[in-house]
Amino acid sequence: METVVCEMPDALEEACGVFGVYAPGEDVARLAGFGLQALQHRGQESAGIAVGDGETLRCHKDVGLVTQVFDDAVMEELGGLLAVGHVRYSTSGAASSRDAAQPHLSTIDAESIALVHNGTLLGTEALRASLEAEGAVFAAGTDSEVAAHVIARAVRRAGSVREGIRQAMDVLEGAYAMILATPRALYAFRDPHGIRPLCIGRLPEGGWVVSSETCGLDIAGAAYVRDVEPAEVVRLGREGLVAESGRAAPRRASCIFEYVYFARPDSIIDGQSVYQARRAMGAILSAEAPVQADAVIGVPDSGTPAAVGYAEASGIPYAFGIVKNHYVGRTFIQPTQAMRERGITLKLNPLPSVIAGKRLVVIDDSIVRGSTSRQLVSMLYEAGAAEVHLRIVSPEVRWPCFYGIDTATRDQLLAAGRTTEEMRRWIGCDSLAFISLEGLHRAVGGARHQGWCEACFTGSYPVPRPL
Ligand code: SF4
Repeated sequence: METVVCEMPDALEEACGVFGVYAPGEDVARLAGFGLQALQHRGQESAGIAVGDGETLRCHKDVGLVTQVFDDAVMEELGGLLAVGHVRYSTSGAASSRDAAQPHLSTIDAESIALVHNGTLLGTEALRASLEAEGAVFAAGTDSEVAAHVIARAVRRAGSVREGIRQAMDVLEGAYAMILATPRALYAFRDPHGIRPLCIGRLPEGGWVVSSETCGLDIAGAAYVRDVEPAEVVRLGREGLVAESGRAAPRRASCIFEYVYFARPDSIIDGQSVYQARRAMGAILSAEAPVQADAVIGVPDSGTPAAVGYAEASGIPYAFGIVKNHYVGRTFIQPTQAMRERGITLKLNPLPSVIAGKRLVVIDDSIVRGSTSRQLVSMLYEAGAAEVHLRIVSPEVRWPCFYGIDTATRDQLLAAGRTTEEMRRWIGCDSLAFISLEGLHRAVGGARHQGWCEACFTGSYPVPRPL
């Protein structure tokens, strides 16, 4: 049998979760481990934690899930007063390389710093070339490694971590939510548009937590305080929380897809509950694209809250019609082409006893290349569905993402250059409809929100994309 790495999945894929904790007297490595497990949906290829004890930083990282990389013995060795951690999904650099695992450690005048990054930086080839000309050596080939070099050099030049980060932020372009650890403090900062999320929480005993999502705060027992603002640098250390604003972009551009798909439903992003946003998407879509049907089913996991919302608003009963296997990773054994084509059956399985003979409304989060939708619809008919009406709670994905999300290229996106009817025919369902962009805006906070990135729907990129 041949072991192959699965080709790019037919979905938008998240690109990392970051977590930091400053809590002298507590088991910071285990708290970071818990936080990373809560963020595991954002990346499953590698995991790492660096711990600072006031004098030094020690780091353990490897390919694999958090529970595979860390055991009790490793955790016992990672005592300290602060920790920073990372789970990785590769959009840059080798998928399963230990070198690409984060945190990235750098040494500045005999003192170490550790950096973790969620997002994608633009223009790093030129930066890498100029750093190499100055003698820098790169092991991982990732944009995050370039950022680590840029920041380390800026800190050395400035003689201050905070000032070094500021100067590096003037150079770095693209999407980044980062946490930098010294042996004594954490620094959390976000790009000027606030594209990728980052929030701060407080532990009951007075420590601080930083996480990509609030579900990471919850598992560490921290209460949500606020989000890190675009262009802000927040220091967490002995003096508590010290924040310094920066030059934010005129308009915020938080990734709207966090609400649709990436974030866990129990998270709150920029003050908006992800679960409630998904439920509202379903309700709004039921008004925008009503249909006569017997049951509403969601494609798990992200389609489920939206299906509940569609069912509540339409009066059509919700049914549990598709079971998801959560243990299928990106790498698996696919001995034949036929098996590769049916790969989706490893992940999703319809329940014939629930759907046979029924006219179904099927709620999914998005259509990227469309092959998953096509196979799923075929499986539902095979399981006895009388009709399949596909309802998608994001607008048509017509443009690739350059900000930390793994998408297909434009020519691979089903919606690029096709009408809804052409897509429906290719997928093979009875009807197909997408939520409108205006409807999605209302679902995720409407006018209360300060602005989203929605470039994968509109092609209007907040940061100029690479040519
Ligand atoms: S292009 Fe789409 S997926 Fe990428 S950051 Fe913007 S909204 Fe999110």
